[in-house]
Amino acid sequence: MMKGHLVGVAIAALLAALPMMAGTEPGASANPLLAPWTGPYGGVPAFDKVRVEDFKPALEKAMADELAELDAIAGNPEKPTFANTIAALESAGKEFDRSSTIFGIYSSTMDTKDFQAVETEMAPKLAEFGDKIVQNKALFARVAAVYDARESLSLTPEQKRLVWLDYTNFVHAGAKLGDAAQKRMSEINQRLATLFTKFSQNLLADEADYVLYLERESDLAGLPDGFRKGASAAAETRGHKGHWAILNTRSSMEPFLTYSDRRDLREKVWRTYYSRGDNNDAHDNKKLITEILKLRAERAKLLGFRTHADWRLENSMAKTPEKTMELMEAVWKPAVARVHEEVADMQAVADKDAAAGRGPKITIEPWDYRYYAEKVRKEKYDLDQNSVMPYLQLEKIREALFYTAGRLFGLKFAPVTGVPTVTPDVHVWEVQDASGKHVGLWYFDPYARPGKNSGAWMNAYRSQSRFEGEIPTIVSNNTNFVKGKPGEPILISWDDATALFHEFGHALHGLSSSVDYPSLSGTNVSRDYVEFPSQLMEHWLSTPEVLNQFALHYQTGKPIPKELVEKIERASKFNQGFATVEYLAGALVDMKLHLAATPDKDIDPDAFEKATLKELGMPREVVMRHRTPQFGHIFSGDGYSAGYYSYLWSDTLSADAYEAFVEAGGPWDPAVAKRLKDNVFSTGNTRDPAESYRGFRGHDPGTAALMRKRGFSAPAAPASHP
Ligand SMILES: [Zn+2]
Repeated sequence: MMKGHLVGVAIAALLAALPMMAGTEPGASANPLLAPWTGPYGGVPAFDKVRVEDFKPALEKAMADELAELDAIAGNPEKPTFANTIAALESAGKEFDRSSTIFGIYSSTMDTKDFQAVETEMAPKLAEFGDKIVQNKALFARVAAVYDARESLSLTPEQKRLVWLDYTNFVHAGAKLGDAAQKRMSEINQRLATLFTKFSQNLLADEADYVLYLERESDLAGLPDGFRKGASAAAETRGHKGHWAILNTRSSMEPFLTYSDRRDLREKVWRTYYSRGDNNDAHDNKKLITEILKLRAERAKLLGFRTHADWRLENSMAKTPEKTMELMEAVWKPAVARVHEEVADMQAVADKDAAAGRGPKITIEPWDYRYYAEKVRKEKYDLDQNSVMPYLQLEKIREALFYTAGRLFGLKFAPVTGVPTVTPDVHVWEVQDASGKHVGLWYFDPYARPGKNSGAWMNAYRSQSRFEGEIPTIVSNNTNFVKGKPGEPILISWDDATALFHEFGHALHGLSSSVDYPSLSGTNVSRDYVEFPSQLMEHWLSTPEVLNQFALHYQTGKPIPKELVEKIERASKFNQGFATVEYLAGALVDMKLHLAATPDKDIDPDAFEKATLKELGMPREVVMRHRTPQFGHIFSGDGYSAGYYSYLWSDTLSADAYEAFVEAGGPWDPAVAKRLKDNVFSTGNTRDPAESYRGFRGHDPGTAALMRKRGFSAPAAPASHP
C-alpha cells in the first residue's frame, strides 16, 4: 500500500516535496516544521524537533505562504510560459511540502490523542486549501494557456507530460466549474476530510481497545513459540504481566486463527477483528460511510460524471469502471470454484479428525478457514508454515531486500547513524547507485506501536527531481511486526516476508526514479499502475539465491533446506481461492458501492455488503479482507476509493512482467532487469503507463499469466530458455 498525498484534491505539482539546502531559502521561521531540512543527504526531516503543538501554526503559515506564492504566479504580467507557470508551480510550496509530509508521518505512525485533536482540526482546513488552489481562476487560466500552446513551445516530452498532468488535474478537481458549484465542491471536500479522519481514528480506537488477554497456558494451545513470546511482551507493555495479549490487528489475528487449537477463541478473535468499526458504539463507522458515499456521488455529479467511480477512474490506466469489472468478473468465477475445492479438502480433514476422536464434528466456518487450510497444507504439501518461520528472520530478510536491489538495479545500502527518527526503533540506510552516486535514504519503521496504522506501506518523504539541481529522494517502509524481547530474532511468516518484498518494491520505485520534475517522480503514478512494481518484486523472495543466502535458521544458521523450498513452491498456488476471493469481494463491493451511490440515497453499508455478496455468490466460509465498516483503503481518504481493484490490475501486469524474466532464463537476467529499470522503475509518470509497460515487455498484458500464477485454469506457461 502507498500512503497518498495529504490533500487529495490538490494539484500534485504543488504538493511535491522539494526542500532546499539550509540557508538558501528566505522566510524560514522559528517553527522547526517549516525550516528547511538540513544536514547530509540533501537535508533530512528534523524528527527530533517535532512538537505536536507546532503542527497547527506551521501548516497555517505554510498554506498562507503557498497561496501567496501561487497568487504571484497567477499575477505575473508576462505571457504564460512553461517556465513562469508550470515550472514555477513545481517550485512553489516548499514549506507546505515539508510540514505536511511530517504531519502525514505523524498521522500514520504517531497518532496519539493530542495529535488526533490537531488532525481533526486541520483536516477540513487542508481540504479547503486544496480547493483554493484549484479554484484560483487566474492561475488555471495560465495553466490552460500553456496547455493550449503546448505543441508550439518546443517542450521536452517530460515537460509536455507535466503540462498535460497539471491541466488535467485542475480540470479533474473542478477548475472549470462555476462559482456556485465550486463553493459546494469546497464544502463537500472539507466535510469529507473530517469524515475520513474520523473513520481512521475509529479504526485505530477499535484496534487498540479490543485486546484479548489470555490468562491460562491452556488458552495458548497450538500457538507457536514466537507468537507466544510476542503476545507475552505485548501484555507486559500493557500492564498485564504474566498474561498474553492478542491484539486486534491483522498481524495478531492471522497467526492466531492459523494456529490456535481453541475453536472457541478462534471464533472470538475472528468476530472481534471483523467487527472493527461495526460495533454500534461511539467508534462505529457505518453512518460515516453513508454520508461519505452521498457526498462523493454529489461531487461526481457536480463535475459532470455519472458516478464517483467514473470520476476516479478518468486518469487511471483502466480508464473506466467497466474495464475493471470485466477483469474482476473474469477472475471471480474460477476463484470461487477454487474456494469450494479448498473447503471440501478442509472439511475432509475435519471429518477425519472427528472420526478419529481428535476433535468434534464440525462444519467449516470462517474462523476455521485458516486453521484447516494450514492442516491441509501440512497433509497435501507436507508443509508446516511453522517450520518455515525459523528460517525467516526479519533482519536477514531485510538483507535479502538489499541483495535483490543490488543485483537487479545496482543499488547499494549502507546504514547511517545520526539521522533523526520518530522513535529509536526506526533505522536509516543510505542508498547509492552502481557508480557510487547518492540516490536517496531508506527509513525502515518495523514495529507495531499504539498510534501506528496497522498493515504495511511505503511513504515518500521527498521526491527525486533535478530541475532545480539534483534532489535525492527519501522513502520509508513501514510494517507492524510485534517487537520481541531484546536480543531475540523476530521470526516472520512467509506472507510477511512477501509483504516486505512488496513494500520494498514501492521503495525501489522511488529510489530508482530519474526524472526532472517532482510531480512526475517515482511512485507519483496512477493508482492502478503503482502496485505493479511492488507486486513484481514479491517474486524474488522465492528465488534460490535469496533463500540460500538469507533464509537462515535463527539457531543453526543453516539455509532453508531444498526440500522445504520445493514444498513451498508446490504449495504456492495453495489457498489462492481464499486469497483471491477475500480480496476480490472487497474490490467488487468497493466498485459497486461507488457505482450505486447517489447524492440523495442513504446506503446502509452492512445491508449493501450483505446483498452484494449474496448476489455475487460469495462462499459462506470467506469474509471480505476488509469489511465495509473497516475498509480504510476506501474510507479514510479518496486514494483507493473505487480503486481497490488496482491490486488485481497491477498483478495482471506483474504476472505478465515476471514471465519476461522466465522467458529470458531467470529472475536475474541483466538485460531484462535493465529494460525494467529503464522503462518502469526510473520513469515515474513521465510517460503514459501503458506505453512504459509496452516499452518493457514489447506487448500489452493479457490475463493468462495472472491465471497461471494463481493456479486457475489458463493456457500453458511460456517456454523457459535455460
Ligand atoms: Zn502496495
